[in-house]
Amino acid sequence: MISIIIPVYNEEQNIPNLVEKIQDSISLIPYNFELLVINDGSSDNSISEIRKICNYYRNCYFISFSRNFGQQNALLAGYDYAKGDAVITMDADLQNPPEMIAHMIKKWELGYEIVLCKRKRIKQDKTVLKGLTSKIFYKILRFLSDVNIESNSPDFRLLDSRVVQIIRQIQDYDVFLRGIISWVGFQRATIYYDHGLRLYGQTKYSFLKMANLAIAGLTSFSVKPLYIAIYLGLFFSIIGLLYVPYVIISYLNGGSVDGWSSLIITIAFFGGVQLLILGIMGVYIGKIFMQGKGRPRYVIKEVYYPTHL
Ligand code: UDP
Ligand code: MG
Repeated sequence: MISIIIPVYNEEQNIPNLVEKIQDSISLIPYNFELLVINDGSSDNSISEIRKICNYYRNCYFISFSRNFGQQNALLAGYDYAKGDAVITMDADLQNPPEMIAHMIKKWELGYEIVLCKRKRIKQDKTVLKGLTSKIFYKILRFLSDVNIESNSPDFRLLDSRVVQIIRQIQDYDVFLRGIISWVGFQRATIYYDHGLRLYGQTKYSFLKMANLAIAGLTSFSVKPLYIAIYLGLFFSIIGLLYVPYVIISYLNGGSVDGWSSLIITIAFFGGVQLLILGIMGVYIGKIFMQGKGRPRYVIKEVYYPTHL
């Protein structure tokens, strides 16, 4: 059996279309399929659309969160509940074409435990800002973290149930699945697809949501930012030390009143650097805090199996 997980946050217009397309593309594939929709606290009519399709197709069921917990947590819930020998995740907005399902399964049959779908073109449906920020983000991420995360590979992938087993054991509070996928190892294959336009609605990732995901990704896989803070501190301490003789000499020469501008610049600059580094440390401490509480990463309000299952 193969599970397909779809996280949904306010996608009422996309759901009927998407499910129809998926059913079409899987009808010729000789496996049993289950379609698991995760309603991530949608505030529109998504839930009634989902209920409709679950009553119509006998291979669909859904999980509904008590509020919005974010796409990463929705995917985690999917991995927790999926029963398939392979689990496919895809977006609800038809940017991830269902025709790729057959290609992913072919790779899986060849023995790859992880099949990643990589975007062929980046520009489509992306503002210049989003394209640029994601490019810069992956560059920084690869530099700062110890895992090699593929750029342009969204949460559109197939995982063998062995990999899913591992993901179920990972208890990170702030999950960044792309990083975990790269961390677990296993044999992986990459296939390329055309990232389409979002069918209806707007992206559910605000700039802030994206930035938060980026920071979660950066701080989940290494403590390198903390080392950078140390080296930065060391660098400026040495420069500061070299400045001391100059200060003493100009004092002895009676010219120590000058230098108001340089003082202000130094205060402003080092104030900024200190805040940045405090922020970096704060993020790590925050992670310990959240992790220490051990709260569940999502809260389920309803699990719905259609009556004919
Ligand atoms: N999504 C979600 N919870 C959120 C944000 C997004 O479940 O808090 C879902 C959304 O419904 C979609 C997928 O995650 O199925 C990807 O979101 P979106 O298409 O808005 O992201 P983009 O393609 O713009 O990066
Ligand atoms: Mg999208």
